[in-house]
Amino acid sequence: MAKDYYDILGVDKKASADDIKSAYRRMAKKYHPDVYATASDKEKAEAEEKFKDVQHAYAVLSDPQKKAAYDQYGSEEGPQFAGGGGAGFNPFGGGSGFGDIFSDIFSAFSGGGSSRNPNAPRMGDDIEVEVTLNFKEACFGVKKEITFNRIEKCSTCNGTGAKDASSVKICTKCGGRGRVTVQQRTMLGVMQTEKVCDMCGGSGKIITDSCPDCRGKGRVRKQRTVTIPIPAGVDNGQMLTVRNEGNAGYNGGENGNLIVVFRVRPHSMFVRNGNDLKLDLPITITQAVFGDNIEIPTLDKPVRIEIPAGTKNGTVLKVKGKGVKDLRRNSYGDLMITIKVDVPKNLSLKQRKELRQYFEDLDKNAQYDEVEKYQKKLRNIE
Ligand SMILES: [Zn+2]
Ligand SMILES: [Zn+2]
Repeated sequence: MAKDYYDILGVDKKASADDIKSAYRRMAKKYHPDVYATASDKEKAEAEEKFKDVQHAYAVLSDPQKKAAYDQYGSEEGPQFAGGGGAGFNPFGGGSGFGDIFSDIFSAFSGGGSSRNPNAPRMGDDIEVEVTLNFKEACFGVKKEITFNRIEKCSTCNGTGAKDASSVKICTKCGGRGRVTVQQRTMLGVMQTEKVCDMCGGSGKIITDSCPDCRGKGRVRKQRTVTIPIPAGVDNGQMLTVRNEGNAGYNGGENGNLIVVFRVRPHSMFVRNGNDLKLDLPITITQAVFGDNIEIPTLDKPVRIEIPAGTKNGTVLKVKGKGVKDLRRNSYGDLMITIKVDVPKNLSLKQRKELRQYFEDLDKNAQYDEVEKYQKKLRNIE
């Protein structure tokens, strides 16, 4: 059977173009390969399949012509004859005036357009939760307890919605079949079609007394706590899908997923840039001129770095492998240290006098690369 594009995107048939668009974004995000970076191969393959379905469904539903054809015939390629005709068989070449007549016939074939079985298993809805991590938790990974509310099958009635076994009766209208036969007059003669029984909604059963705990719904909202391992290297805004932890499915369908969205608190010193970390390191003029060997913090233990003599303001020094672990591979980013040369303030009169004298003498025969480069450009300015 053809896939239901509306189901795939999780929208109603009456959804507007904007609704369809935002549903597409949501679903594409959900099944995006990035999200499954740390999942098993089987989960990856399933997500990839769903991702493709979502893209195809959106390609059809976002195109007004294809959408109209799909709404009318259940296929973006026009009418499909059950049991005959290949895919894409369209006797009208599209866009003739027969649309309405044929839509009547086809709706008769398909039982009033609602051929979907209401008793078919359907996956439950996803739940999105936000989890805040501190900077190091995101860098090193952590186990987090997450508490959220979800819909579960009512344990009192085991999801039936009935008070007890004796309050479940066979539907009198359909005799328990869940479907009723109706006759419809069409261009091609009288057609017998099956429709979902409107009395029992297709379940074939009528419940006389409801379960008191779920008031007949078969489903209850419950608080749940799960502990999830968060891999090292997650960044702000990234998502992790925990399969099967979402709302209960319908008619025995599987649970939806729990989608965890990470918020990562900033660090007081490090700024993250992909897997690299950035650190601003202020040094004195003396350190800049003469060089120094100093200790700097990293995510784990401090390391010593060499500041070469003559280090200029803005110089970036790299400490390899002291960044953040890659989410997918066992490799690490680097720590990028930007040198900020500080200038002394509040000098005494005596210090200022002595320093000025000293520097003015120095400047006469010292080498200032950047100043000279700039002066040269200035002389040749166009
Ligand atoms: Zn119940
Ligand atoms: Zn019935």
